[in-house]
This record gives sequence, structure tokens and C-alpha cells, in this order.
Amino acid sequence: MVEVLKGVHVIDLSEEGGLPLECYLLNCDEGVVLIDTGMLPSAIERIEAELRAMGKKWDDIKVCLITHRHGDHIRNLARVKELSGAEVMAHEGDVGEIEKATGVEVKGLKHGERLPYCGGIEVVHVPGHSEGNCCYYLPERRLMIAGDTLFADEEGALSPPPERYCLDVEQARREIKRLLDYDFDVLLVTHGRNTMRDAREKVRELCEKIGVA
Ligand SMILES: [Zn+2]
Repeated sequence: MVEVLKGVHVIDLSEEGGLPLECYLLNCDEGVVLIDTGMLPSAIERIEAELRAMGKKWDDIKVCLITHRHGDHIRNLARVKELSGAEVMAHEGDVGEIEKATGVEVKGLKHGERLPYCGGIEVVHVPGHSEGNCCYYLPERRLMIAGDTLFADEEGALSPPPERYCLDVEQARREIKRLLDYDFDVLLVTHGRNTMRDAREKVRELCEKIGVA
């Protein structure tokens, strides 16, 4: 079990030869929240193992939040829905594509919307990587779950998402500065090493370095 902050579980979904990949389970008083689903059957097994370690079951997952529409984040969504019955939500900009790709009904979220879990989970829309790409911000944990808004290397050095994965790379780079409107110490990225302290300052330095501050 990997609990990086109280009630915040990181699940490593990486497979040999592939990009680092992870998803998250939030153990909230209101129920369990899953963020992204991974893409392979092995991811389902790992999510299940983490749930078991938490003393939880699939149907304890009340909501599945999706950061964006790319396959490595949503390919298991139909299976997750079947196992958990959870309500699925994503930013409205990606809802159509996610529904088309998975056959699962998805509730659309707007920038700034606050979901009533874990003391409030705020939707931070950061378009560019995809139209509806978003982060989820937990002010009580001082935590930003960035999805693919930022990538990190093995040492945790941050970078914008690679151009080949972006709908509009210039927009994806420019919009990173939106994160500076929030106060956070910890930054979880789907691909690469997570930042466990002073994360906002690291994002600010990146914005300066790439000339979008
Ligand atoms: Zn992506």
C-alpha cells in the first residue's frame, strides 16, 4: 500500500518498457474516489489490491474522476464502471470523446467546480494537452493532482507534456501557469516522479524557464 498523504493512495501501473504510469485512490469520509483507470487488465488487479489493503471494495468507490480522454487514463473505464457502479466525471471538454471511446456515461465538470469529497476537490481546467484536460486540487491536503498537465523525469524535474501527445502544445505550455493560482506543496503527475514538497515553487520555476510566467 502506498499512501503518500493521509487518505491519498498512489497506484503504480507501469509496465516494463512503457512510460511510467499511475492512478490514485482517495479515501474520503464520503467514500472512495478513483482518479483515472489505467489501460491494461493488470491495472484493474493493482487497483483491486490497493482497495483490499485499504479495507475497501470496488463498490466503496463512489466517483471516478478522469483527468482527460487519452487511452492510458480511460481504457479500463467500462470495467471500473461495471465493478464499482461509480459515477464518472470529467471536464466537459472531453466528455464526448470519453463516452464515445468507452460507452460509459460521463458527467461534465466545469472549471472551478468543487466536488464534495475529501474536504472539497476543485476542478482546474488546463486545456492544450486535450481540450478538456484538467487537474484536481485538494486544498485541505495542499495537493494538486496534475494528470498529464505536467510530466516529470526520474528525478522529479518537471516539463510540459511532450508535443506528440498534445492537441495544442503551445496552449498546453501556456496554460501551465494556471496552476500558480493555487496553493499546493505536493504535485502528483501520471507520468514520472511525484513532487512531495515545495511543488508550487517548482512549477513557478518551470513557467519561468519555458517563458510563460
Ligand atoms: Zn494524456
